[in-house]
Amino acid sequence: MSSSLPVLVIGAGAGGLGAARTLADAGVPVLVIEARNRIGGRAHTVLSPGGDPIDHGCGWLHSATENPMVAIAEREGFTVDRLTPPWQRRSATPGFSETDQAAFGAAIDRFDERLVEARGQDDRPASAMLEPGNRWNPLIDAVSTWYSGAELDLVSAEDLDRYDDNGRNWRVREGYGRLIETLGRGLDIRLGVRAEAVRHDGRTLTVETSRGTIEASAVVVALPSAVLATGALRFHPALPDKIEAADALPLGLADKLTFRLDDADGFEADRAVFGRTDTRRTASYTFRPSGFAQVECYFGGALAYDLERDDARAFETFALEELSALYGADIRRRLHALPMTLWGREPESLGSYSYARPGMARMRERLAEPVGERLFFAGEAVSPTHYSTAHGAYLTGVEAARRIVAARHGEIAA
Ligand SMILES: Cc1cc2nc3c(=O)[nH]c(=O)nc-3n(C[C@H](O)[C@H](O)[C@H](O)COP(=O)(O)OP(=O)(O)OC[C@H]3O[C@@H](n4cnc5c(N)ncnc54)[C@H](O)[C@@H]3O)c2cc1C
Repeated sequence: MSSSLPVLVIGAGAGGLGAARTLADAGVPVLVIEARNRIGGRAHTVLSPGGDPIDHGCGWLHSATENPMVAIAEREGFTVDRLTPPWQRRSATPGFSETDQAAFGAAIDRFDERLVEARGQDDRPASAMLEPGNRWNPLIDAVSTWYSGAELDLVSAEDLDRYDDNGRNWRVREGYGRLIETLGRGLDIRLGVRAEAVRHDGRTLTVETSRGTIEASAVVVALPSAVLATGALRFHPALPDKIEAADALPLGLADKLTFRLDDADGFEADRAVFGRTDTRRTASYTFRPSGFAQVECYFGGALAYDLERDDARAFETFALEELSALYGADIRRRLHALPMTLWGREPESLGSYSYARPGMARMRERLAEPVGERLFFAGEAVSPTHYSTAHGAYLTGVEAARRIVAARHGEIAA
């Protein structure tokens, strides 16, 4: 590894910024290129017309008591809301009785137990863990579209079981996207520069970009798995194992639509409702997230794909129909849709967060494996236990950077 050249990080999401920040802090010269004209990737906070933050991408500090972003948030002066998330509280869905909520909770517990019982067996679609004929299966599947971005029959049971969730979920009031952005402060980041090819067989690595060629001592590829799987970033020599692994870890789809809510006081803060409880084609609605006068609507899986085929208006129409069925047609007058991101249509992400196809859970390790200790892969999809999260992505970047720093120390010592 030639230490006079910079390390090049491709992609300024949580993974790439985690790598770049760690390298810069260790005194290693680092350059970041980013295809979009902003940093953050799938972490993206925008402001409502009234100035309230809205996270189009990540919003929750999952596994909060072990999440390194909590300490960073506090150091940076962000407000960490240590709340119990809506999905761990009684659902506020009108007409969803205590008895039915208890039965639904028991069906979820049984599903989770079956995941554990299946350990060591051949991997299967997670839908195989549903109790046949259980009345709550459609709603469990709807929940899967929100946390995996895909229905259970598409998802590996083994991978789902390996996800490490410590049950604590907090929020950063000013926006998770803004928090991720702070990682980029002071770094040399070139926006609007797309990586097109990586040559990794020479004495140094060379990366062809939309703005010319860059020579680097090491490269960290921190792109979404769905983007890698298209082959849009070419490798010389080719890396078919990596493309195959990326293809085994597609991005599921989850999209958020936020309404401004008039006369919000009648709704308790941070309470969620299901649009319906008898189908998987439904959305989840959080009233007054963090106390803001908003309703956050969460769509996932096939429903989100179908709505994205139209446009943002289709999400609004769907949500208004479900909400007026729950609260009466009058609620429509109190709801004002704000702009949203259609993550499946963004060429730089092609989806929201990764799941593993059945039988493919171990592809996360395959994608993570560096090539020749000079070409590294980071991002949420390479995390075997914290995939699909912003802090999981960050940690993979930190790990890649540590290996680069260790290799450089070895070189200097030698
Ligand atoms: C709706 C939604 C809700 C979510 N909710 C949560 C949540 O509550 N909690 C949580 O922890 N996580 C959540 N996530 C997931 C989280 O946002 C992601 O896992 C994380 O941000 C991914 O970081 P990353 O670095 O792996 O990828 P990305 O953030 O996608 O970064 C990759 C970067 O590479 C850039 N890029 C792409 N192609 C090229 C190229 N050829 N050249 C140069 N640059 C390129 C992209 O523009 C992007 O900036 C959510 C995501 C979505 C979409």
